Amino acid sequence: MNRFLLFGFFALVSASACFAELDRGAFTFINYDLELRVDPSGQALAARGRITLRNDSSQPQKVAAMQISSTLSWRLMQVAEKPVQFETQPYTTDIDHTGSVAEAIITLPAAVPPRGTVELEVGYSGTISADATRLTRIGTPATVALGSDWDQISASFTAVRGIGFVAWYPVEIEAASLSSSNALFQALGKWKAREAQSSLKVNFCWINDESPLTVVANGQLLGIGRASPKEEGQGITGCTPYRFAPLGLTVPTFAIGDFVALQQPLITVYHIPEHEAVAGDYATAAQKLAPFVEQWLGPPHDRVRVVELNSAQAAPFESGGVFFTPLNSEDPKPLQLQMAHQLAHSSLASERPWIYEGVAHFLQAVEREQQDGRQTALDYMSGQLPPLVEAERAVDEAAAKGQPPPAEAASQSLISATDDVFYHTKAMYVWWMLRDMLGDQALRRALHSYRTGQDKEPSYMQHLIEAQAKRDLGWFFDDWVYNDRGLPDFRVASVYAHKNAQGGDYLVTITVENLGGAGAQVPLTLRMETGEITKRLEVRGKSTSSIRIEAPSAPLEVVVNDGSVPEMDMGNNTFKVETSGK
Ligand SMILES: [Zn+2]
Repeated sequence: MNRFLLFGFFALVSASACFAELDRGAFTFINYDLELRVDPSGQALAARGRITLRNDSSQPQKVAAMQISSTLSWRLMQVAEKPVQFETQPYTTDIDHTGSVAEAIITLPAAVPPRGTVELEVGYSGTISADATRLTRIGTPATVALGSDWDQISASFTAVRGIGFVAWYPVEIEAASLSSSNALFQALGKWKAREAQSSLKVNFCWINDESPLTVVANGQLLGIGRASPKEEGQGITGCTPYRFAPLGLTVPTFAIGDFVALQQPLITVYHIPEHEAVAGDYATAAQKLAPFVEQWLGPPHDRVRVVELNSAQAAPFESGGVFFTPLNSEDPKPLQLQMAHQLAHSSLASERPWIYEGVAHFLQAVEREQQDGRQTALDYMSGQLPPLVEAERAVDEAAAKGQPPPAEAASQSLISATDDVFYHTKAMYVWWMLRDMLGDQALRRALHSYRTGQDKEPSYMQHLIEAQAKRDLGWFFDDWVYNDRGLPDFRVASVYAHKNAQGGDYLVTITVENLGGAGAQVPLTLRMETGEITKRLEVRGKSTSSIRIEAPSAPLEVVVNDGSVPEMDMGNNTFKVETSGK
């Protein structure tokens, strides 16, 4: 009855295979059907299943390759129920927490023509313990590294993330290193984009000594897991099937443990039995935030899912709408921000990451504003800005030289971005700028009118927003959503202040230059001897714009951009005014 007992693992290793024609980008893994056996007390994992590969290159392919985490070993490789020749090699790459994968290079029985498919039956097993080699070898302190790379199978804590963390299911990606700026995130983004329409079905099975375990994953639950005593009275086993389809940009992640589910209408919190009280705090926070999110997005269509990571140091992780986190409610403000994010996911469905993730990040910033005011919200956003500035640098430098941006960078328009710094951080700013331009009411009406089923064209959202704004926003979407034009870089080019002949007022003419490629409507503040005046000025990419302000007292300085527009360089935004006629 236990299907594991049927796992007849054997290895077949061929000494000679010709890898000359290996093209790591040739095959797309379109379908996975796996059974995973997880033994927490032994830190062990064994997998068996079928994977369908499609040749998306223009050449017939006789050789395929598959990578799994370096702590796992290939046990079985078959095509049409016949063993096929394969060789295994260690391959150094940071797509896995160990900084290396076990790559099987497989000689197929026949060449697969372009667009043709081949189904491989695979088996692999080994252990998955906490490992942060890829971070420690570039100098990250061990405790910090292990807080980030917390994935492991163990008796007290079993939670494992997929692509980009642990290759617990086979993938095939050219080596990428964390030490070369954005390379790893680009390589992972490319793989996710290729796999976006793929399907991954996994039957998660576990064995335990006495008590049944619960499997929680960020896919669709296909059936209720049932536990049964193992034969010969030794322990207990159970299986829970999940499907991740389409994969989209989701990182398939599972947690297995002695979970208790706290179920409320808005939220389910899977927690270890001792943490019932703190799980309740999460539910309370969700309840408190629900009216705020509903105001922006309408009522939720799904429950928020929170899964406890039983390690206080583990960095929270969110993917596929499920939030994996150590439970901690000592500081209610960050908890409220996270609940705003999760409720946004359960209220706004979209297959476009800049909408799905962008709006969730935006609502966190709006909630931060509700907590402590606009400036705190702007500081909260600018705390996330440096990686975006770094990622935009290539586009910005090319533009400065009048050259087209490098292909890899240019593909990160919000509409097709696969790197999360774009569809998280840049998208958050885009929504914030739209809110500043339109006001809350108009943007809320636009978001309420969004229907994911009708979102067939990239311009669908633009039209919804324009219908509420009652003006053309084509330039804004061109600069920020449909293309990656980098970020603006504002400077106050000149300020002329003249004292009015009649009264005591000053007439101030301010010219702002945008050295960057993306235009924006940017706030501009004129500080005077008494008080200040803030106006908004639209400055397109690579151009200048002027505004005249009547100042009731002597102008002192002009500051462009309060931080609500993401900028390459904020160091040149202040201008000291020297007044004439005073
Ligand atoms: Zn999210």
